[in-house]
This record gives sequence, C-alpha cells and structure tokens, in this order.
Amino acid sequence: MTSSFDPALAVAAQEMMGQLVAWRRDLHRHPELAFQEHRTAGLVAGSLAQLGLEVQTGVGQTGVVGILEGARPGPTVLLRFDMDALPINEETGLTYKSEVAGKMHACGHDAHTAIGLGVATLLASRQDDLPGRVKFMFQPAEEIAGGARAMIADGVLETPVPDAAFGLHVWSMTAVGQAVVKGGPLWASADKFDVEITGRGAHGALPHQGVDAIVVAAHAITQLQTVVSRSIDPLEPAVLSIGEISGGSAFNVIAERVMFSGTLRTFDQAVRELIIQRMHKVFGGVCAAFGASYALDISFHAPPLVNDPDAAEHVRRIAAEILGADAVADGPMLTVAEDMAEILNRVPGCFFVLGAMPDRNGLPAEPHHSPRFEIDEQVMPLGVAILAGVAEEYLRRRRW
Ligand SMILES: [Zn+2]
Ligand SMILES: [Zn+2]
Repeated sequence: MTSSFDPALAVAAQEMMGQLVAWRRDLHRHPELAFQEHRTAGLVAGSLAQLGLEVQTGVGQTGVVGILEGARPGPTVLLRFDMDALPINEETGLTYKSEVAGKMHACGHDAHTAIGLGVATLLASRQDDLPGRVKFMFQPAEEIAGGARAMIADGVLETPVPDAAFGLHVWSMTAVGQAVVKGGPLWASADKFDVEITGRGAHGALPHQGVDAIVVAAHAITQLQTVVSRSIDPLEPAVLSIGEISGGSAFNVIAERVMFSGTLRTFDQAVRELIIQRMHKVFGGVCAAFGASYALDISFHAPPLVNDPDAAEHVRRIAAEILGADAVADGPMLTVAEDMAEILNRVPGCFFVLGAMPDRNGLPAEPHHSPRFEIDEQVMPLGVAILAGVAEEYLRRRRW
C-alpha cells in the first residue's frame, strides 16, 4: 500500500531542531520524579495553550491532556508521551546536566516530552487542513508504571474516545536513524511478587514439634522452577526470577517465617495468568504437604505491550518514508516493560522504538537507567516527523 506522507513534515521537523533541543535541555536540567512532574507539566500545559490547544491539567495527578481540534469532522488519534525522571545521580558531565542532586532524566523521557511538544507545534500549524482531532497525552510516572492507569482512571480515554493510539521510546542502544516497529508483542509484562511462608517455630533440636518454614520455602522455590519449564509452551517466552529471600532468626531455632520476592515477565496476558495460577498451586500444594500456609502478593506493574498489526504496518510505512525501508526492523523484542501497554490494551495502536545512540568517540553507549545515559538529540526531529505523519495519515485515511 502506498502512503501519501507529506515530505514537508520531515523538513519542518528538522527546522524545529533548535526549539526541540531547548525544550529537552531545559527539562533535562530540571528532572522530576513520578507524580512530582509539576514544573514539567506547567511547561507542557503552557506550550500547548500557546498553540491554541484545549488543555486539561491534573489528569492522573500531574498528567496533561491537550486536544488539537481539526477543521473537519473525523476520528480521534491519541499520542502519548511520558515525562518522569529517575532517582539517579547524573554522572554525564554534560553542560546541561541535571541541576537536582539524585534525580536524572536517564531514560529519555525529557526527549519524549520535547518530541510531543514538537508534534503539537507541527500539527497545530496544519490545523486548517486536519480532519478529526489529536489528543496529546503527557503522562506522569511511567517509571513506577502508575501514570497511565492514573490518567485512564481520570478519563483520558473518554470524551473524545480515541480511535487509535501511538507512542515511542528513544533507545540509546540502537543507532540514530534506525527504528523498531513490530506488530504483536514488543515488550514484556512486569509483575513483582512477594511470598510469605508461615510454619510454626520450635527448638532446633525438636523439629517434630514445629513446621520448618525454611524447608517448606526450599521445596516451594525448587518447584517454582518447573512453572516456566513444565507448564508454559516452550515457544512462549517467560521469566520467573526470585531475587530476594530472608527468614529465620537463630541457628538453633526452627524458622516460623520465610519471605522471598521476585519478578515475572511475559509477552502474553494468558501466559502471565497461567504462571500466577501455577504459583498458587505450587505454594498451596507444598504448604499443604507440610502443614504450613502462604501468602502470595502480586503487584502488577504493566501488562505485555502488544501492538495492533495494522497500526504497526501504518507506522512502519511512515517510518520507512523518513528513515528508509532498510532502517526499520521488526525486532528485537525485549523483556523490559512500559505502561503504554495499558493504553494499547484498550485502544488499538502502536508503540515503537527509535534509535538514539550517542556518538561517544568509540565508547559503547550507556544503557537506559545508567547515571551516564546519553542520547543523540538528532532522534528528536525524526520522532516528530514520524508521529506527526502517523497521526495526520491516520486522520486523513480514517484508517490505518
Ligand atoms: Zn525507564
Ligand atoms: Zn522509559
């Protein structure tokens, strides 16, 4: 299928480079943690209002929604950008490094916010020609995976209800000018689980008078290793890792309690649910055998991020127009999580990855969440052009 992507968008996005850099560096100097994005939200709301958008603040605590109303009736497309920083002390030595000790934009959400303002600026300049409307969603608290849900609870997906949703992540480990656009699962779900096994304490020399929580936990943990290997289709990726364990109080006391916790990653909601179900069976069975009891607490961080195949094809076409067909790959999948998945669970759309690898004189790029994390700012006009094109094309064609 051919695309009618307007190359003027890419030119205009490049001409915006100075403004994108200014926005991003200002945000980079003033990072704010999850649900504390007051200054950032103020800057976003002010810029959107200046462009003539209808602006709503305080959506999901510190989230901002801007609506760009087109000149003709048509569908609604949602573009989502995250705004929060991380509790990390910046060690980059950049001239515009964080001015707040212990806080840093180490995931590139400053660039996402700048890209979002760039897309709003670009599409506002073409408003007279635009059917439907664009709903800009500036989200707090992606890093603790609470922001998307908070904004949904506050109605971001209602009046107007979006017909399609798009978002992106800049990626320091992928070269600038490259993109990953993939239909179906792209990134994993994330859960944290906490387990408490309760037995009955006793003298270490008289174990028959108690229920040894350490022995019960040892059996349960060994059994847990069979959940992924024996109960999940080998073609379905899944990870169950236990990262912490504690229990007991003295060498000669039968431990009454053992606590352990871990993380669960899957690419499919049904697989995730099956694993949780199997965990309950393992704990229930093992504890019943020994006369112990258990509590399993799952704190859900994000569902698997699953793109609509047609929406992904739409993004791939536009990205290929801007970056070249060879620059758009359909992988790799990663076991990291992203709460844009909450949106894509409810609205068909596509989240994609744009390469932002910095030139570090031959040194390897630092990963996301590193105190030395950097990006190449050239990614920003590319992100603006792709998202503006994706939104405009969708609104014009009223379909992918
Ligand atoms: Zn992150
Ligand atoms: Zn991120």
